[in-house]
Amino acid sequence: MSATDDIKARIDIVSYVQRYVPSLKKSGRNYKACCPFHNEKTPSFVVNPERGTWHCFGACAEGGDIFTFAQKVNGWDFKEALRELALQAGVQLRAQTPQQKDEDERLERLRGLLATAADYYHRRLQQADAQPVRDYIFAGRGLHDATVSRFQLGYAPPGWDFMLNALRGLGYSDEEIVEVGLAARNERGRIYDRFRNRLLIPIHDPRGRVVGFGGRALDPDDNIKYINSPQTSLFDKSRLLFGLDSARRAIRDSGRAVVVEGYFDVIQAHQAGHHNVVAQMGTSMTEAQLRLLSPRLAKRVVLALDTDEAGINATRRSLEMARGMLERDYAGKLSVDIRILQVPAGKDPDDFLRESPTDWHALLESAQSVADFVIELETARLSPDSSLLDKQAVAQPILPILLASENDLLRQDNIQKLARRLRIRESELLAWAKAIAPASSPTPAHPPDLPPEYFDAEYAAPPPDIAQPEPGKHLRQGSLRAAEGHCLGLLLRNPHLLAQVNRKLRELAGDDQLLQSGPLRELGADDFSSSRYRALMIHLQESLQQDDLEPLDFLARSIDAELHDELAELLREERVVLSQSLRGNFQVDLHDIVKSRRPAQRPGRDLLTELISRALQLRQERLTNERVDMQYLQEEAQTEADRQLDDRLAIDVRLSVLAKARIDLAVG
Ligand SMILES: [Zn+2]
Repeated sequence: MSATDDIKARIDIVSYVQRYVPSLKKSGRNYKACCPFHNEKTPSFVVNPERGTWHCFGACAEGGDIFTFAQKVNGWDFKEALRELALQAGVQLRAQTPQQKDEDERLERLRGLLATAADYYHRRLQQADAQPVRDYIFAGRGLHDATVSRFQLGYAPPGWDFMLNALRGLGYSDEEIVEVGLAARNERGRIYDRFRNRLLIPIHDPRGRVVGFGGRALDPDDNIKYINSPQTSLFDKSRLLFGLDSARRAIRDSGRAVVVEGYFDVIQAHQAGHHNVVAQMGTSMTEAQLRLLSPRLAKRVVLALDTDEAGINATRRSLEMARGMLERDYAGKLSVDIRILQVPAGKDPDDFLRESPTDWHALLESAQSVADFVIELETARLSPDSSLLDKQAVAQPILPILLASENDLLRQDNIQKLARRLRIRESELLAWAKAIAPASSPTPAHPPDLPPEYFDAEYAAPPPDIAQPEPGKHLRQGSLRAAEGHCLGLLLRNPHLLAQVNRKLRELAGDDQLLQSGPLRELGADDFSSSRYRALMIHLQESLQQDDLEPLDFLARSIDAELHDELAELLREERVVLSQSLRGNFQVDLHDIVKSRRPAQRPGRDLLTELISRALQLRQERLTNERVDMQYLQEEAQTEADRQLDDRLAIDVRLSVLAKARIDLAVG
């Protein structure tokens, strides 16, 4: 038995959930309670002990197994949930490889060093001679005691070796201190403190561990207002968002994130009770930063960036990046609603929040859509007597952004707006659009022809030992597992096809937003019933959200040892020869399998068809299961005369049936 199955067998999901949701009560064959993840009066949170699953049929509209519940309720990732639950269940997990272990230990030691440094700087702030710094923080910046502690603000005194001496005294080597960027080395090899006479702001990774610092100059004559930690093995500014560790929950709960420019904008916002605010710490937003927020946490991202010239240019670049990313993620893997907020009167959010904290919410609501923002911005420099050529020059860079919208109506609307602003005919504008960017034309109704390397005919047919389920039929338990494995295997071998599957789902949903965000939403972990498949699916999605490594390499490096065999197994189908050589090997070397992956060669359309039909079958299965629970819940709502819940469930059931019908047509 795998560790995850073992854990599930040993920990009863009902009693586990009850620890966090004491009101969970038996109700027929299920248990139910008010959802712990959103506010509600009538229970729509259901735990099914037979299947070992939970589901919120209310606002969250999501569910999973004991691992996903532990992840969500504690804010853990899969690895953490696995480790914790294994501990509770008394299940032994597979050990890491020696190299993994060494590297983990090294990084852990460096994190310890940084946490210690943050603590030293913070305590240094309490000393008598730091009074002017405290005045600056409390009187000047208007921060409260609790905020200063929460963000662990600190003070690096003048001089060359305050931190060096402190860390050396604790046994850290000069190499380590330099490696994390707290000290620098001059040409003569002398080592000195990087941060001197500065207010220090620790920067955390999304899991709340200190990975670097921002330092604000305290001496008004200091030319460099801010210096940050240099790029290190733990600190990569372009892949971090300041404050995300504190903001994550609020962002997930509200589905909205606000991105500001500076540290103090974030700190001020959190102090005022607006917890979904993060800072991008650079001149413009990077793709990696946007992916930290979307689509997993936020559906809407508000960019509240500086409105001076530099700020506007940075915003332009951020939008260009977002557009490029949306275009590449062809199937809208990142369907994120980006808004642009201009804080009035040239203030930064920090000032605004200090002066009128209660108006922040209204200000956010006034944020413009990307299209409105760029149309206004770019057409502002046209004069009434601008020539057609001038107008074309203004329109051309904007058009791709306007056409990037997936929504037909919105696209049309934007084109109309721009045409009106330019005072030209829409048809003319569209002709320019066609002329400049065939690649960024509106999403075609059918998937584009994929390059041959996307296909590999060899894997088009399912391996013989896997039962071919009848489309649309309820899958039996054994064959369900096999179907899930087959679908996931196809995806793992062709990660980029996930976008095509999602595209298909969106195509089936058509213009119906409720179907799009509901029963026909993108393929995800919840489409798999096996915990390990779910975890792999999440890793797969993550692997597609980074650009450093090939998805499979990324996957092989990032997954827990516990999942290695599973991944190897799913990939093994690919190479019979390799699998034979592996037979009898106690430890499967995943890296070898990944490395020896033969590039897909033979073209063929069948693989995509096969994958889509498998994925749709899994969705059918999921919908059927969910519908059973919903109908049951609905009966109860009727008995208890809860009209509101009854109505909502009725709609959900209707949507589910509608989705099923569309899938039936598609696979049938
Ligand atoms: Zn909920």
